[in-house]
Amino acid sequence: MIVKQIWTANKFRNFNYLIACAETGEALAVDPLDHVKCLEAAKHEGWKITQVLNTHEHPDHTGGNDAVVRATGAAVLAHHNARDSIPGMQRGLAAGDIVKVGSTVELEVLDTPGHTMAHVCLRSHTDQPALFCGDTLFNAGAGNCHNGGHPSELYKTFSQQLERLPASTLIYPGHDYIENNLKFTLDREPDNRDAAEMLGRVAGHDPAKAFVTTLDIERTVNTFFRLSSPTVIARLREAFPDLPDQPDERTVFLKLRELRNKW
Ligand SMILES: [Zn+2]
Repeated sequence: MIVKQIWTANKFRNFNYLIACAETGEALAVDPLDHVKCLEAAKHEGWKITQVLNTHEHPDHTGGNDAVVRATGAAVLAHHNARDSIPGMQRGLAAGDIVKVGSTVELEVLDTPGHTMAHVCLRSHTDQPALFCGDTLFNAGAGNCHNGGHPSELYKTFSQQLERLPASTLIYPGHDYIENNLKFTLDREPDNRDAAEMLGRVAGHDPAKAFVTTLDIERTVNTFFRLSSPTVIARLREAFPDLPDQPDERTVFLKLRELRNKW
C-alpha cells in the first residue's frame, strides 16, 4: 500500500489522499477536493484513480468528486446513509465492509459517527496499520459536531473504536489543525511536556511535509484521549465547578468538546 498525502493549501486546510496498489497502479482518492492536485499527483506517479471515497458528506470533502469522476470514470464510495447528500454515489459502505484497491490493498470500513452521522474511517491491516479518519480524529484533536453531528456519538466512536486500534496505527486526518490543537491541549494541560515539545517542532511547519502521528503519539498529546489526566480534570473543574470528584470519561470528553467549540 502506497499512501500519498496531498496538502491542498486552501483556507480549510484540507488534506486529500491517494492510496495506491504497488502491483497494479490502481488508486483510491480519499476526499479529493483539490481534484487538480490529486489528478496531477496520480499522473505523476503513473497511477489510475479507480475509486473515490468520501469520509463524509461535507462539501469540503465531496467538492472534487465530479471532476475526478469525469476525468477517470472512478466509482464514488461513502457511508450508506450519505446517499441523499452525495450525488452520484455508487457504493454505500457499512461497518466491516472491505474496500479493495488493485490486487494488494484492502481497507476495512469503520462506521464512525460523531462529526456527522454518515462518517466512515478506513483502516488498513498493513504491517504498520493506518487510519484515514476524515474529520473524526485530527492530530492532537477531535472533529466538531456542529454540522450534523452529535458529541456523545463522537465520544462512543473514540472510546469504542479508535481507542482500541493498535498503538502503531498511522493517523491520516482530513485537515491540518495540529498547531492549534496542540495549543488547546496545552491550555487544558499546561504540564503536558510531549505536547509542548511537539508544538515546538510543528509550529510554522510546511503541511506539505506534515508529521504523521501514530495512535500512541495521539494518546500523549491529544486531550480527547487524555480523559483521566489529573491536570485535565483539575483544569476542567475551574470551568465547570460542579464537576464530580471522579468524573466519568464521557463527561470529561463532552465538556472538553464544549470548551473547544468556544476556544
Ligand atoms: Zn467535515
